[in-house]
Amino acid sequence: MKDVLIVGGGITGLTLAWALGERGIDTQVLEMRPHAGGNIRTLRLDNYLIDLGPNSLLERPGQGLAQILDALSLRPHVVEANPIASRRYVSRDGRALALPMSPMAFLRTPIFSLMGKLRLLQEPFIKPASEEESVAAFVCRRLGPEFLDWAVDPFISGVYAGDAEKLSVRAATAKVYALEAESGSLIRGALKRARQGRASGPVPRGRLIGFHPGMQALPDALADRLGDRLKTGTAVTTLRRDTNAWKVGTENETFAAKRLILATPAYATADLLASFDARLAEDLRAIEYPGVVNLALGFARETIAHPLDGFGLLIPRREGKETLGVLFSSTLFPGRAAEGKALLTAFIGGARNPEVYLRENDDLIARVIEDLKPLLGISGEPEFAHVTRWPRAIPQYTLGHLERLARIDQAASALPDLHLAGNWRGGIAVGDCIDNALALAEKLA
Ligand SMILES: Cc1cc2nc3c(=O)[nH]c(=O)nc-3n(C[C@H](O)[C@H](O)[C@H](O)COP(=O)(O)OP(=O)(O)OC[C@H]3O[C@@H](n4cnc5c(N)ncnc54)[C@H](O)[C@@H]3O)c2cc1C
Repeated sequence: MKDVLIVGGGITGLTLAWALGERGIDTQVLEMRPHAGGNIRTLRLDNYLIDLGPNSLLERPGQGLAQILDALSLRPHVVEANPIASRRYVSRDGRALALPMSPMAFLRTPIFSLMGKLRLLQEPFIKPASEEESVAAFVCRRLGPEFLDWAVDPFISGVYAGDAEKLSVRAATAKVYALEAESGSLIRGALKRARQGRASGPVPRGRLIGFHPGMQALPDALADRLGDRLKTGTAVTTLRRDTNAWKVGTENETFAAKRLILATPAYATADLLASFDARLAEDLRAIEYPGVVNLALGFARETIAHPLDGFGLLIPRREGKETLGVLFSSTLFPGRAAEGKALLTAFIGGARNPEVYLRENDDLIARVIEDLKPLLGISGEPEFAHVTRWPRAIPQYTLGHLERLARIDQAASALPDLHLAGNWRGGIAVGDCIDNALALAEKLA
């Protein structure tokens, strides 16, 4: 009998197991895939180092990720993103334009019209809405439609592969929503925070990082530390609750534990809990995971005219292209492509185009190249292409998400010693998953 059994060996489950182990709690993780890490996967192919899921992480001092990097001696493997990655491009009218990073650049940028820029002056005087809003409605109301189309819509595609019309501003962009909730205005709220920051001394900034061997270095280090407390290739198919234990069934074995954590995607959690509470399963299944395809494309550097001097390029929906955006991967981190080559990582699909993963590789590659050719001045064919399908990629925090989570928690609390975790709650970034897992481990300990 284990003390805690964790189903799911993504970053959430691995972090939980590591943190509980550090507190002397006997834990076992069961992961159905042959490898740990869930969405975090790296491959080295034809001299290109490609991350199939997350490509970069935000490390903030004092937060969970920093703690893990220190505890697992991962610092020597960490690589900070090229400082030029603070530049981000967005396409407008078929041109790649850098998003403005200073007030002067904002005044000069052709991304927003004069009317769009003047519209910002109204922002401090706009009243908060009384009902839950979508990200699109919130941004339109506060900042005007141009900000939605050319800044926020592409940002939402880049982070969630999501649709700003469907995502809840309270759930999906909680920090932005908090500015309005606290100060009645985004501009007033941001200025107030900057003042508070100055008064309490220099605020430690987050930094964008990767790993020399690719993102998988992080789950691999956690898996190494867990040793035989992690069992891969072990899909959980049934759950049973006895008087004082959970019985967890796989194809060949049954595991028993006093406490059970499901650190699985919401749809998988729904399947496991359906026989206990159909309504709970229905709420979990209502969390959408649209498909996304990641295309790693390697080029001879001279066949791309663009300087690739930034993080990447986002393509707003209004541009009428299918590609959501592209990361300049070989600019971002060293060692992604050989000398004289460039690695681009493009994304297509998401909430705007969820069935994209059903299409043939050649069709997807041709589509992405056609979209990117005029924007980046691509003159040749890629010498390398690798397509990764994520049929259910990223959970969407749509309107009603927070109420749905409250109902899920209420229903789950009726099942003794059961805890639900994963990126469908509390943030989708790897750093958020780690922080949420550490907080749950603390609570359980
Ligand atoms: C294409 C893509 C790009 C991304 N880019 C970034 C980025 O650049 N930066 C960033 O911070 N975040 C990014 N994210 C988000 C981030 O990767 C995820 O939110 C995070 O990795 C989720 O971790 P998790 O452990 O909660 O879930 P998962 O990684 O989904 O892990 C859940 C695990 O549960 C296992 N499982 C499911 N059912 C069972 C079962 N019945 N029995 C046993 N095991 C089971 C699964 O196999 C899986 O390993 C990206 C995600 C994707 C898909």
